[in-house]
Amino acid sequence: MESKYSILLSLLMLQCLSLLCVSQSQDFDFFYFVQQWPGSYCDTKQSCCYPNTGKPSADFGIRGLWPNYKDGSYPSNCDPNNSFNQAKISNLINDMQKNWPSLACPSSNNIQFWRHEWEKHGTCSESALNQHGYFDTALNLKGKTNLLKALKRINPDGNSYNLQTSKLQ
Ligand code: 5GP
Repeated sequence: MESKYSILLSLLMLQCLSLLCVSQSQDFDFFYFVQQWPGSYCDTKQSCCYPNTGKPSADFGIRGLWPNYKDGSYPSNCDPNNSFNQAKISNLINDMQKNWPSLACPSSNNIQFWRHEWEKHGTCSESALNQHGYFDTALNLKGKTNLLKALKRINPDGNSYNLQTSKLQ
């Protein structure tokens, strides 16, 4: 009798542990909000293409919002059952075309890039943000972080910046 109880108890504990593992594999410690400078992307890839929705402005664009772990690793592709659905973000599309353009070739309407970012990174933050919330949060962060303004404060005359002779060293 006693051993029956202990087997039952062990099974229950195993079930709890597996649930804990499933929920922890979805979890993360913090977000990186990543922006890209168009010229750097073009240099790194040695080519780039304007999206067919128009030439991106000369500003940083959103690269992605990435859930990360404190040890430097990150989760990816966490939920194959929650694929990108444009209908869920229809009110954000105009803002996304402007602030989250894809520079990859061949030219595209950016959808593939957003799909990739949601499915690889966004699905791992479902505990905090749904699909609309994920893109909306990234757009809001872009509105709050004016990198061009911050860089102009370091180098107001806009000339090239030499780290060796910089007074900031
Ligand atoms: P990530 O590193 O964000 O997981 O992957 C970026 C992926 O999105 C790459 O595989 C790349 O092919 C695709 N992609 C499409 N457009 C862009 C772009 O403008 N910038 C970057 N970095 N990747 C892009």
